[in-house]
Amino acid sequence: MIKLENEITYQHILQHLTNSEWDSKNINVDVLRLDKLHAVVSGNKLFKLKLPIDKALQTGVQTIITTGGLYSNHLIATAYACNAAGLNSVGIIKAHHPIKLTATLQDCVALGMELIFMLPAAFNDAETLQEKISTYNNNLWIDMGGYSVDGAQGCKEILSIVDTKKYTHIVTAVGTGTTLVGLCLAAALHQKIIGISGMKGNYALQDSIKALLENNIHAPFNLLHNFHFGGFAKYSTALIDFMNTLYKQHQLPTDIVYTGKVFYAICTLINTDYFPAHSKLLIVHTGGLQGNRSLPTNTLLF
Ligand SMILES: *Cc1c(COP(=O)(O)O)cnc(C)c1O
Repeated sequence: MIKLENEITYQHILQHLTNSEWDSKNINVDVLRLDKLHAVVSGNKLFKLKLPIDKALQTGVQTIITTGGLYSNHLIATAYACNAAGLNSVGIIKAHHPIKLTATLQDCVALGMELIFMLPAAFNDAETLQEKISTYNNNLWIDMGGYSVDGAQGCKEILSIVDTKKYTHIVTAVGTGTTLVGLCLAAALHQKIIGISGMKGNYALQDSIKALLENNIHAPFNLLHNFHFGGFAKYSTALIDFMNTLYKQHQLPTDIVYTGKVFYAICTLINTDYFPAHSKLLIVHTGGLQGNRSLPTNTLLF
């Protein structure tokens, strides 16, 4: 992405997690710290937005319109990337206009994003939504969370930042599944991709992932649905304690929506011998910590 490229750093992007119990089981765990790439266009969002924004610039698009929640990593990344690219950005939020904008939405506005609040009934009505979108000339719509074939294509790059051939398992958080598809498309045949869904019982994922994989249906992936902690953006004190411990031990910040659940899942899976001895795990830290801004202050150590 033009302009943004020079703001990206690849320093210390691979982190080994030292753990004597894992050593005794012969399990190696490395983390690909995509959260370190950029302060705002964090993690997988950088890769998902790359192609849509490049295409927008090439085809004379003026305004990118998308949607997200009150603490959306996708919205703030889009706002920043559009700002850097000289594009207008509009964020549609499926909610009442709040009395006070969340910190995330305030930052979106500061980055030049126009916010529109639509009640679910209006948002979910395709015609009403389309009408709203069409009031913007030369616009490009990006689905919630950046779900798209282009987004997945961009995510293929994640596995070429460092040499990833030696890993037997690649693990990622899953929202829309776009990142997981990119990993499946880029992985070697001997590698298994494991996706940890942050949502409760979102079994429709299997089909939305297959749709993005198009004809490449042989990509080996496994979705785990039992680490959602009650649902999207839901958390427990056990999760918070775990995230704080992870930070103290490894200086690894995670979020309550996605990555905290992924690391919790990995620890549980290793403890219950899910991975055979000599497995080499690469956990893709998918970035964005916006969800943590919804917590009371001092909940987290970072
Ligand atoms: C958006 C996001 C995800 C979800 O990615 P998908 O490609 O939609 O599955 C995972 N982790 C973090 C930190 C995110 O911000």
